[in-house]
Amino acid sequence: MMGQQADGQDRLFYSFNLDDYVPLDHLLRGIDRFLDLGDLRRHLEPFYSHTGRPSIDPELMVRMLIVGYCFGIRSERRLCEEVHLNLAYRWFCRLSLEGKVPDHSSFSKNRHGRFRDSGAFRHVFEGVVQRCMTEGLVGGEGFAIDASVIKADANRARGTPGNDAFDWRDPKHSTRAVREYLAALDVDGEPTTERKAISPTDPAARWTSAPGGPAFYGYSTNYLVDVDAGIIVDVEATPAFRTDEVNATRTMIERVEDRFDLKPERLIGDMAYGAAPMLGWLVEDKLIEPHIPVWDKSERQDGTFSRSDFVFDAERDRYICPDGKYLSTTAQVHSDDMLRYRASTYDCQACALKPKCCPNTPARKISRSVHESARDVARELAKTDRYRQSRRDRKKVEMLFAHLKRILKLDRLRLRGPSGAQDEFLLAATAQNLRRMAKWLTPAGSGALQATA
Ligand code: SF4
Repeated sequence: MMGQQADGQDRLFYSFNLDDYVPLDHLLRGIDRFLDLGDLRRHLEPFYSHTGRPSIDPELMVRMLIVGYCFGIRSERRLCEEVHLNLAYRWFCRLSLEGKVPDHSSFSKNRHGRFRDSGAFRHVFEGVVQRCMTEGLVGGEGFAIDASVIKADANRARGTPGNDAFDWRDPKHSTRAVREYLAALDVDGEPTTERKAISPTDPAARWTSAPGGPAFYGYSTNYLVDVDAGIIVDVEATPAFRTDEVNATRTMIERVEDRFDLKPERLIGDMAYGAAPMLGWLVEDKLIEPHIPVWDKSERQDGTFSRSDFVFDAERDRYICPDGKYLSTTAQVHSDDMLRYRASTYDCQACALKPKCCPNTPARKISRSVHESARDVARELAKTDRYRQSRRDRKKVEMLFAHLKRILKLDRLRLRGPSGAQDEFLLAATAQNLRRMAKWLTPAGSGALQATA
């Protein structure tokens, strides 16, 4: 028999509890269990006036943004529509069935004003990291560092080459992204190298490309990840430029130590982080084991002796060459942070190995970084089993980036300027940590979910 729907839609009174209609194993139930925004209002209080019309509730704003970043809803207009229509989103945002969802334009204005000035997104992110620590998901023994490039909201066809492409002080260019760019120039000074292309809409974004792909403007999201459970303990936005990405490592390690009293025993990274100053800072200043391949260009490819064919005598600060002669230094540190060790011209001229050592110069010269001992520590670590485990652990950060782009759909930014990128990366990392906690700590359909919802 063909069934027919019994109820019409003309009832005046309903007995309806939103909580009953959200499935026990819904991801938002798990996330809600671990999200505590209890002190958000106190944090934001200095940024609100005591008079005038009440603003959108900041907790509602943050909950809506978390829904957006958790489920890859990238448009603010669509997010407002989805929260209006979706019962689970309403439940998570603490809205009743008739609760008013903010208009997307007021939502946008609030998000870019007080929230940015107050550092609210970092406050929320750090609160979630603290909760991950409380739940035992952060071991603190090994951290992995990596960066991933995300396209900026800038048209790749509208760039202009050179640093002086525009009169940036012209009021017609005065957007928030341009003002941020100019403020950074006032602090850091004009760039010394000519930029290949600069975007008029987001001048801080760097012109970059992935191997084999077309170039575009982008920012890098830098993750510092605890390798125990893959929790992101810090995130930093930088222009898509290697030097900035490596510098972000220091910022994040210092900040995590300062905020959470966490300092890893080992730091895992790829060769981009293996330059001598970085290894020196890790080994000598921070006492952290660098599980990082050493950036080394000293091996020669022309068949002549490389530096590794010479033995370093640390006690006497000299090299011993394959013919048993000494190369000594004046101990002067050159501008490239290198010491020069030179053999005697007298020894080299009389040496039978000269054609294989220094065929084009009167005597052999070797450069040694002032951080060479730290590089040696990294080379020795690379032979250990712990290092091989670190190589496997590094995949956790790569998986987080894949998840960020494929599941959370953050492959292109919607906000411009460094602070826009920072806001987006902080929210995305917050969403990733919350999703991980929800999935790891709340078995699907468990009674615990119901008890704490
Ligand atoms: S050429 Fe000079 S540095 Fe090279 S092996 Fe001979 S003596 Fe040693």
